Amino acid sequence: MSMIFTPKPTPVVDIAGTNDKFPVNRIYCVGMNYHDHVVEFGSDPQEVDPVFFLKPADAIVGNNVDVPYPPKTSDFHYEIELVLAIGKQAINITADQAENYIYGYAVGNDLTRRDLQAEMKALGMPWDTSKAFDKSATITAIHPASVIGHPKEGRIWLSVNGEIQQNSDIKMMIASSNQIVAALSELYTLEPGDLIYTGTPAGIGPVVSGDVMEAGIDGIDRLTTRVI
Ligand code: MN
Repeated sequence: MSMIFTPKPTPVVDIAGTNDKFPVNRIYCVGMNYHDHVVEFGSDPQEVDPVFFLKPADAIVGNNVDVPYPPKTSDFHYEIELVLAIGKQAINITADQAENYIYGYAVGNDLTRRDLQAEMKALGMPWDTSKAFDKSATITAIHPASVIGHPKEGRIWLSVNGEIQQNSDIKMMIASSNQIVAALSELYTLEPGDLIYTGTPAGIGPVVSGDVMEAGIDGIDRLTTRVI
């Protein structure tokens, strides 16, 4: 048996403070996970549960790497998010057990073609074209929990060209990191290499070519991305 073409290399994310790499398996994302963001989307936080979706592993883009303005949109949005990096296989675990499966934490941006998302939502159809496109998941290095612990609070923010657009705290998440890992482990077999983008606070908005997004979560890292 031989491969009929050379497989692409596995996408990787840096591990902070080392030359080690985290090989990416799947990228899970959570939508509607901050009250103020659910409200800005015109929904009632009492009636909306966090929603799960995926991006392809090769959508990952490292820190300080430019991203192209994507095709087929005129409303390209940022969404700053806490990212969990899974280090052990997890099936049907509880929230109390979740920290044993989280290798580390990073800061990520769930880049979104908002106009395509609105069109698909209006049709009641899947949003994949709005979320799962090339270079749609920027991320900092992963900071191991063995070094930084398991952050439960900390300012999360994003600026465009130096102007703050998103400004909240990860303690405002509706489903906690541990609850998200538990819920996903009931739906899927979580594997080492999985990344989980945990949702964005209010203040989402557009960027255009030439804009620079700077973002961060206190106690974790800072993420800089230029749109070209
Ligand atoms: Mn998001």
